[in-house]
Amino acid sequence: MSWTENVRKVVPYVPGEQPKLDKIIKLNTNENPYGPSPKVIEVLKNFDTDVLRKYPDPNASDLVNAIADYHNVTSDRVFVGVGSDDVLSMAFLTYFNSDLPVLFPDITYSFYDVWANLYRIPFETKKLRDDLTIDASDYDMPCGGIIIPNPNAPTGVAENVDFFENIIKKHPECVVIIDEAYVDFGAQTCLPLTDKYDNILVVRTYSKSRSMAGSRIGYAIGSPRLIKYLLDCKFSFNSYTMDSITIASGVASIKDEEYFADKVAKVIATRERVKPQLRELGFDFADSKSNFIFATHKTVDANIIFEKLKASNIFVRHFKNPSRIDNYLRISIGTEGEMDELIKVLKEIL
Ligand code: PMP
Repeated sequence: MSWTENVRKVVPYVPGEQPKLDKIIKLNTNENPYGPSPKVIEVLKNFDTDVLRKYPDPNASDLVNAIADYHNVTSDRVFVGVGSDDVLSMAFLTYFNSDLPVLFPDITYSFYDVWANLYRIPFETKKLRDDLTIDASDYDMPCGGIIIPNPNAPTGVAENVDFFENIIKKHPECVVIIDEAYVDFGAQTCLPLTDKYDNILVVRTYSKSRSMAGSRIGYAIGSPRLIKYLLDCKFSFNSYTMDSITIASGVASIKDEEYFADKVAKVIATRERVKPQLRELGFDFADSKSNFIFATHKTVDANIIFEKLKASNIFVRHFKNPSRIDNYLRISIGTEGEMDELIKVLKEIL
């Protein structure tokens, strides 16, 4: 027998391309086209590098307290991690520990099945309707947990709080996770449900609405009991997840509400302006409440558009799996100028 038979083998998640080229229009990973708050830049410029000699605060208390203040919850209801991927991965490990399957949509964030396979968690996917909405009745069965992003990714389609409350009410036996990576761009948040139900975890990220994908900050809010279980697993895995610089810049960002609100409003305004332009060019898409539009063209193949845009140095995302969505492109919302250029090039291509 070879040692390779004893190795854990997984099929990893494939992140969007990060091209090294200059002068590209990068609409493929849902980053925010605007920089982080000037308050963050100030923290980075003035950071006392002697601090780096020491381990960071394992509880990241400054950041946890700032997030708790911002959302008006107690600090024992907040968990922070290295991007929401870290938070979600830890949440899978902590909460999904049943022989029953964890449920999530068939078209959703493609990391969920990767974590489930990594941790050997049984799972079952539930087919979205043809209009890419979620059928809540699909989740009406005993299960080991539920995870749904709101808005869903990569569709951009949002459901309302009542929709999620109806699901949660039926599942006192497991944890329900709502991944709110894109919620700031116009969807309803499920945060109020975390006051009412002790088994719902809401996960957020700094990567999109706070323009800080490079800093890797994510967080979760839930009941104190839920957070305690998560912390116990995290401290059994890696104590020092958040570095000192990131903790300080995360605090500065969440305290600058004005900048945050302004940039989110700008992205939303650009998205709404671009929607009719894309429709006019022959694209079809469900209404998006996120910082991207998930569109299919009535006549031209997604792969052809993808390659032609790439040749013009415009990067969008094309998921080849599942095959149900292989004729769609996910187009992140960039600056006004970037979107103008996209529309101009699309007019030439189509
Ligand atoms: N959830 C969803 C739905 C996402 O699309 C992403 C971005 N890839 C994440 C979580 C993870 O984001 P991050 O780790 O940058 O917080």
